[in-house]
Amino acid sequence: MLKQSRLIFIVGYGRSGSTILDLLLGNSKKVAALGEVAYLTDAVWTSNHYCSCGKSASECEYWSAFKTKWELNSEITIESFLALEKRYSRLSGVTRLFFDKSIDSKSFNTYRKTVSNLYNILLELNDGSIAIDASKLPFRLLILRVLGFRPFVIHLVRDGRAVLGSLKKGHRANLEKGVQKALKPKPTIRVALGWGLANVFSELFSFGLNRILLRYEDLVTDPIFSLKRIESGAEIELHESKEIIVKNLPFIKRHTITGNRLRMSNEIRMVKIPDESWKKSLAVKDAKLFYILTMLLLKRYNYLK
Ligand SMILES: [Zn+2]
Repeated sequence: MLKQSRLIFIVGYGRSGSTILDLLLGNSKKVAALGEVAYLTDAVWTSNHYCSCGKSASECEYWSAFKTKWELNSEITIESFLALEKRYSRLSGVTRLFFDKSIDSKSFNTYRKTVSNLYNILLELNDGSIAIDASKLPFRLLILRVLGFRPFVIHLVRDGRAVLGSLKKGHRANLEKGVQKALKPKPTIRVALGWGLANVFSELFSFGLNRILLRYEDLVTDPIFSLKRIESGAEIELHESKEIIVKNLPFIKRHTITGNRLRMSNEIRMVKIPDESWKKSLAVKDAKLFYILTMLLLKRYNYLK
């Protein structure tokens, strides 16, 4: 089993800056930023997505090494693992875990072992001692807890109106640019519900664990202070990440195969200004509706001044 201190889980809603946080943390020695582990096996095996190095999973040497290591170390085939992920990692799986006695069943134990093995293989491959899982999904955090993991949690939150602004922009599918499928502009009510529930569940499911609440806006404007908070909370050293900020160097890119299209950019630097383009681009009626639906949470996270 993975030692408790060896896993950091980033939880929250999409478009909240987890790709940049993952990149920033992954620039420190011994920190293995694994991207969104929840989607990893699918991205590598089933969908053959593009890696941040520009090659597809089947052509990239890093993911090929990962596959080989998996085949050598895992007791089950990837097909069986994907079937177990389907069984346990969705909402139906969560209810199954609590209302079934399947927690003690053989398949659940196999799942527990394989998830742990997956992190260990990735840690070894990265020569890391701390794994970062940027999956964000609150239900994955819950499942990990049921499996016996006690990760340090970074609850990443961003002003919901900025998230809405970002989700109102559609994107065409472009595999090589890291957009796996066409993204249509999302309805305001759906985003409000999704953003609200994801943040409420993030708080609920991380209750009792070591955790910090980190606002994207604070991360971007004062990354050093945010890194110090993570260092003391998770008891890790992030020396190289801090150096990159202080010297304004570009991030060293790893082989990232999940996460948003930012990972495909050639040179990524921390721009110390939060993206607030929503203030101009978001229609007034959408901004108002979102505000009415999520006012309490916007206030809770200090977005209403
Ligand atoms: Zn690669």
